[in-house]
Amino acid sequence: VTTGPAINRLDALRGRLGALDLDLLFVSHRPNVRYLSGFKGSLGYLLIGLEVAEIMGDSRYWLQMEDEAGGFSLARATQSSGLTGMVADRIRALGRRRVGFEADHLTVAQLDLMRGSLGNEIELVATSGVVEALRARKDAWEVQRLRKAAETASLAFNQTLPRIRPGLREKDVRRMLETAFIELDARPAFETIVGSGPRGAFAHAAPTDRVLSLGDLIVIDFGVELDGYHSDMTRTVVLGQPQPRQQEAIDAVAAAQTSAIKMAHAGFSTESLDRSAREAVAEVVGHESAFQHGLGHGIGLEVHEYPIMGRPDGSMLESGMVVTIEPGAYIAGFGGVRLEEMVLIKEQDCEVLTNASRQVVIDV
Ligand code: ZN
Ligand code: ZN
Repeated sequence: VTTGPAINRLDALRGRLGALDLDLLFVSHRPNVRYLSGFKGSLGYLLIGLEVAEIMGDSRYWLQMEDEAGGFSLARATQSSGLTGMVADRIRALGRRRVGFEADHLTVAQLDLMRGSLGNEIELVATSGVVEALRARKDAWEVQRLRKAAETASLAFNQTLPRIRPGLREKDVRRMLETAFIELDARPAFETIVGSGPRGAFAHAAPTDRVLSLGDLIVIDFGVELDGYHSDMTRTVVLGQPQPRQQEAIDAVAAAQTSAIKMAHAGFSTESLDRSAREAVAEVVGHESAFQHGLGHGIGLEVHEYPIMGRPDGSMLESGMVVTIEPGAYIAGFGGVRLEEMVLIKEQDCEVLTNASRQVVIDV
């Protein structure tokens, strides 16, 4: 399995173009560009049709595009500011009539520019989630990258865990963890979350100068990026022995997570998986303190990608999806608990990819 020209990915997309009655799809979202072409740079656009595979970039990226985007013909723009205009020129030159664009990603200004340039001959059609839907099921190479990203972040966490002590600040915990990422040749997938004591009730707590003290619940949400693929996991630990109410919240979230992992397999509705975990936590800690965010999300070239669990969009788990399962409880003035694993969905069950220590109590 290689990263080379992803012929099967292009074929899959071409199959979708027919169903959408499109002659061409203009792809501008960076992770989608990378997925389809292999191009890893920061700015490049694709035009894809049944017999068309073009990549457009400015001079900074011409050599890189020739190197990475095998199977694509390169259209050279001299300036990055002229890139959107160039897309319109290429569409006209190709003589296609119905052209899809990525409505979730193209700016209004870019769309106006293209409309102005293309006139009425060519119909620009808003599309949503076309490439994202293909990206949801990972191939063997992608699973390998995600597994490595999960294992790398887990190892960094295991190295950091024994060093967490009263007297350190939340920012110190982030620094220790992110230093461990870099020592493992990875980098943070997103700003590491460290929420201690009452701050743990903020589901997305950026680390502060708050000093950790005995008895604190600490929510640590972290992941790395490796070869463009991301990991994302959360552990909740206690400095010293947990109080009964802390233990109750931890047990409730852990039980909801275990049961969701047991249920998750191909064909299971993401909405019902989300609902059952939500209800399990609410029964113990109360509805007002149960988690308001979704139970989990797909992960790959982006930290959050399709499927987003908890949306009433009828989506089903499919084999090859890699998703997070992350129930939580957030109690104002008291603190928070969140536990997050990444799992690979299979036909009959799922496999947990994250293997960071699940030890809750830090002896001090
Ligand atoms: Zn997370
Ligand atoms: Zn997550």
